[in-house]
Amino acid sequence: MNDRTLHPESLMMSYGYNPEWSEGAVKCPIFQTSTFVFRSAEEGKAFFEVAYGLRSQKPNEKLGLIYSRLNNPVLEILEDRLTLWDDAEDCAVFESGMSAISTVLLEYLKPGDLLLYSSPLYGGSEHFIQHVLPQFNITVARFKTGQGREEIENIVRDSGKADRLKMIYIETPANPTNDLIDIEQCKNIARYFSTSQHEVLLAVDNTYFGPLWQHPLQHGADIVVYSATKYIGGHSDVIAGAALGSREVIKRIKTLRTFLGNMAAPWTGWLLLRSLETLKPRMETQARNAKHVAEFLKNHPKVEKVYYLGFLDEKNDEHYALYKKQCLSAGAMLSFDIVGGEKEAFAFLNHLKLIRLAVSLGSTESLAEHPATMTHVDLDEAEKKELNITEKLVRLSVGVEHYEDLINDIQQALEFVKVEELETA
Ligand SMILES: *Cc1c(COP(=O)(O)O)cnc(C)c1O
Repeated sequence: MNDRTLHPESLMMSYGYNPEWSEGAVKCPIFQTSTFVFRSAEEGKAFFEVAYGLRSQKPNEKLGLIYSRLNNPVLEILEDRLTLWDDAEDCAVFESGMSAISTVLLEYLKPGDLLLYSSPLYGGSEHFIQHVLPQFNITVARFKTGQGREEIENIVRDSGKADRLKMIYIETPANPTNDLIDIEQCKNIARYFSTSQHEVLLAVDNTYFGPLWQHPLQHGADIVVYSATKYIGGHSDVIAGAALGSREVIKRIKTLRTFLGNMAAPWTGWLLLRSLETLKPRMETQARNAKHVAEFLKNHPKVEKVYYLGFLDEKNDEHYALYKKQCLSAGAMLSFDIVGGEKEAFAFLNHLKLIRLAVSLGSTESLAEHPATMTHVDLDEAEKKELNITEKLVRLSVGVEHYEDLINDIQQALEFVKVEELETA
């Protein structure tokens, strides 16, 4: 069944699992167990030798399970299936997106090192980078979407620690305005600062567009991280994360995961296996719906501007070529400026009926939120202004509902945005 030549969506129901292992059960059962019985003491000894790196695995040596903090059948099958979308060699799953991200950063950054990161990032990641890493004497430097290669290289040099740059960490498209960062260019910057002693790694948070619409490993990234809470989980009912890359890169991440103990639990893993079976139809429907919603918003008099990648055009947008190079769809995340400010944005949000007022994204149900006072409240005023995160900005994560119902909901909620305010705005 391990035929990687089939399309990923054809393999999500079977890859890595053999019903003969489990009484013929067509689905992989939940292996809700903390430990696994060895057939002999010799076998237990052999498993530990390899798991703890005392020796490498012999050719044809079959390794068994030890303890669910190290491995579990559900997690191993889930990790195998996740590799298919990004064409990665290996994957490690975690109990949250933040645990995947923090484990990657802690494994590859040591005291004295420099991290370069893009801004804006997911709030939790930005907090970890700005407030936790410096406690370990790790220097952090950031660049903003829109800055060119030369400017970015100068930021590294100006930190005074160019020789200690160990990782570049980016998020593209950037949340919530869908600004793009060139993954390949970041890899070139990483190569430029690599030395014979160490390679600078590029890590990309692909939560917003992955694993379907963007494959950072194919553009030079070394590590891809996900909040699997979002599209991968897709039902707003589980918190989880993942990191993918080469066998070598993921091995170190899995080893730290073993000792931090932040692997996903069997039940989380099982929920994600179930989610993966419908990942493609969900994401395709969401992207299709988003296009209809974006087009409706674009023509509405109470909407000033729509941030939707599908509207980039070849002649007027410098990012069009980049969009074509690294994105396979415009995705299902969009934002828009309502005519007015916070009051008007809140009037709209408070009157939505079908679309839920909540943070998070990528789920079957559509969600709306106000970045300036919710997901991005932590940014200071100057940063918000620079990133177009103003009081009039509303973010939508488009779900799988019928798009006409979504549009009708948006239309009726916009009616509560008062015309008087419109005129004085
Ligand atoms: C939600 C999110 C995270 C954090 O993931 P959790 O699963 O909530 O820990 C990281 N990055 C992005 C882009 C996210 O949207």
